[in-house]
Amino acid sequence: MDCRTAEGMVNKYIGHALSVNELEEFLEHIENCSSCYDELATYFIVHKAMEQLDEKQEESVLDFKGLLEEDIRKSRRYIRRKKFHRAVAAVAVCALIAALAVFLIFVILELKEGI
Ligand SMILES: [Zn+2]
Repeated sequence: MDCRTAEGMVNKYIGHALSVNELEEFLEHIENCSSCYDELATYFIVHKAMEQLDEKQEESVLDFKGLLEEDIRKSRRYIRRKKFHRAVAAVAVCALIAALAVFLIFVILELKEGI
């Protein structure tokens, strides 16, 4: 991913509108590119600050960098969870196909014996 693509994704990241694959590539770029990380941090801070103004929270969190780090950690957990679910689904489909195959072989053998 190049910087222009990453910068175009900053708003989507903040709005949680990236797909799992996009999110993964975006985070990987952010980790290795300090200028895009700073870009993200700037947007994130503005977004959070406005959010807190809207909500008129009693205790505003001023540690925006900390919030961003937390958000990135959450995104990573989300990616891991999604990947895990995909792997489980793939295994389940394979098991289902195997079970079907065994069932079909069983039926075919039964039919042959019937003849
Ligand atoms: Zn970059």
